[in-house]
Amino acid sequence: LTRRALYGSDSVVDVGGVPVGGNAVAVIAGPCSMDGPETLMRTAEAVRAAGAALFRVGLFKPRTSPYSFQGLGRDGFEAVREVRRVYGMPIVTEVLSVRDIEDLLEVADMLQVGARNMQNFPLLSELGKIGRPVLLKRGLAATVREWLSAAEYLLAGGNDEIILCERGIRTFETTSRFTTDINSIPVVKELSHLPLIVDPSHSAGHSRLVAPVARAGLAAGADGLIIEVHAQPEKALSDGAQALDPIGFGNLMPQLRNVAAVL
Ligand code: PEP
Ligand code: MN
Repeated sequence: LTRRALYGSDSVVDVGGVPVGGNAVAVIAGPCSMDGPETLMRTAEAVRAAGAALFRVGLFKPRTSPYSFQGLGRDGFEAVREVRRVYGMPIVTEVLSVRDIEDLLEVADMLQVGARNMQNFPLLSELGKIGRPVLLKRGLAATVREWLSAAEYLLAGGNDEIILCERGIRTFETTSRFTTDINSIPVVKELSHLPLIVDPSHSAGHSRLVAPVARAGLAAGADGLIIEVHAQPEKALSDGAQALDPIGFGNLMPQLRNVAAVL
């Protein structure tokens, strides 16, 4: 069970050799989606140099419109393997469908369940059996209890390598993309033993808002951050407006070290 009282202590999830949870904060960085091998390598080089411990990259994208870029899918696998080989960062990528799980496990160290799939119960049940870490994002309109209950599907299947991600919820506010529920951080820490990270990129939706929201997440007690970074945000095929460029990410890392111990 996710329940803190029953579990006794905070869990630490090993993601390809990087511990998430515990005393230090893990930073996951990389592009929303992979749009080409060269930009991907440049982005990976920059985030590694700035101190990111893990790399995020989207291959299968859950886009609001079917006419938007849907991700490179399997065509991006080779470049992702290359990032892992050259820069040594474990890979985090989103899984949309049960039929892609097996193939994605060949290139990724942790599979991400996106906000839009938080209550895709057949997907969660399958991911309960993989014996590999899962990053479970909070649904756009999910309560904390619904989110923890979704995590329970993974646990019930036998997978306790779960990391939760607060990525902002839908409110009446429109000046930022979503509203970061800072309250959920101490609430989840009270209710659950699972590591919890914050996604300031999707919460805020604008690159200029990412740094303050990231600092706030750590100050509130998050175990890590997942941040969108792109070598050339203006050319990104998804979520360019919220992506930090290498300079922006390089400036953010020392700010984070002022708030928490970063891996
Ligand atoms: C993403 O990480 O690129 C993404 C689609 O996130 P979310 O599911 O939180 O919208
Ligand atoms: Mn994105």
